[in-house]
Amino acid sequence: MARPDRRVNLAVARAIPPFLLCVCVYACYIVTKPLCIDYLIRPLPKYSRSSRVGAGIAILVIFYILIAVVIITYLRLLYNITRNPGFLPRSPPSTKEQQETESSDRPPRRKRKHRRTRTAEKPDKTDLDIERGTDGNADGGGSPLDITGLENFYTKDVFVCQEDGRPLYCSTCCRYKPDRAHHCREVDRCVLKMDHFCPWVGGVVSETSFKFFIQFVFYTLLFCAFSLIICATFTAEIIQNTGGANVHLAIGIGLSSLFGLFSFGMTISSLQLAMWNLSTIENLNRRSAVWTLAIRVPNHMLARLNPESRWAPTFRTITYPLPPMPVSPEAERDYQPPEKQHVFAILQTLPGENPFDLGSPFKNLQQVLGYSIIDWFIPFKQSPCADRTTGDSFYELGPVVSRLKKEAGLDPPPESQPTTQSGTKRKHKRRRSTHRPSQG
Ligand SMILES: [Zn+2]
Repeated sequence: MARPDRRVNLAVARAIPPFLLCVCVYACYIVTKPLCIDYLIRPLPKYSRSSRVGAGIAILVIFYILIAVVIITYLRLLYNITRNPGFLPRSPPSTKEQQETESSDRPPRRKRKHRRTRTAEKPDKTDLDIERGTDGNADGGGSPLDITGLENFYTKDVFVCQEDGRPLYCSTCCRYKPDRAHHCREVDRCVLKMDHFCPWVGGVVSETSFKFFIQFVFYTLLFCAFSLIICATFTAEIIQNTGGANVHLAIGIGLSSLFGLFSFGMTISSLQLAMWNLSTIENLNRRSAVWTLAIRVPNHMLARLNPESRWAPTFRTITYPLPPMPVSPEAERDYQPPEKQHVFAILQTLPGENPFDLGSPFKNLQQVLGYSIIDWFIPFKQSPCADRTTGDSFYELGPVVSRLKKEAGLDPPPESQPTTQSGTKRKHKRRRSTHRPSQG
């Protein structure tokens, strides 16, 4: 059952779009009738003024262009939030049922799983830990039995992981989460690069809609600033000439100030987050966050991980695909790892480092707004960071990851040296003990 605050959020989210529509209609009325027609173009007798048709038409044209831009960006935002919200599918029922069945066979684990599920739904520090990977088991660490969907991770070169090297896990959706995905309790789904649940647009702002959200609040700011200037200017003029104010223009000053301040704050904070390449959720503990990353060990270095090698790696490793679990001692002895293996080093950033920061605010902005200046202002193209066609990592990675690789000695392969998988198989049993998730 939905919790009260979640129901309130959803109810507010449904009520606000119609409310905003009413505000827009009223703003159009204020500027068109009391200001432009009754005061500037055909002044009412009480104003005792001559007609100013040019000023009236110019104000109307600018006003309607600005409000049209606001409405277009709002509709674009709404379209993405409703049609392409970046939700991740839940685990298929068969997987979930299998896990529940296996859990119920083992009473102590079942008890722990229930505790984890509740924890994952709390909107508190636990959510941050899930997102950050600062605590590998903050989200319950995932079911130790679940190895489904891992191929989406170990076929990449880098992904965010728990301390044991497996990707972060959502115990509510029963699936591994791509980097930067977060479970949104309002919609009860994991969302790709979730930013926040926004009642003003009635849904979740995520990687597919953050760009249009920035454009929407920016154009709203311009619109409110223009409305405030014209309402305030002509209200002062009317007071000076007649001694009284027009009530509609006074309300216009109030509304444009209120929405202007709000959109100013949202524009500044959203642009700042985009320049840091952080989401609102990631920003909550950005100064202390530690990211745990699984970074592929280049094939030419695999032989160095041999116990007889003189090279002593400073990191733990994990080898994919993981063996199916649970395994009996007999099955473990007979287990034949697949030929193609993927070895990853488990490395951690320093507190406050952001692996997705590309090293320059401009490059970070480009990931959200686009590569051309036209894309920055026209609400048409999707953000480059939502492009899934490049496969090395879920999102482009910055200097922090390069430094981690260098410090760990994970050098790229020399051009001349052929890559090889040899030696991987015989080392598997040695590493397998560290690969298996803790059962404790
Ligand atoms: Zn989830």
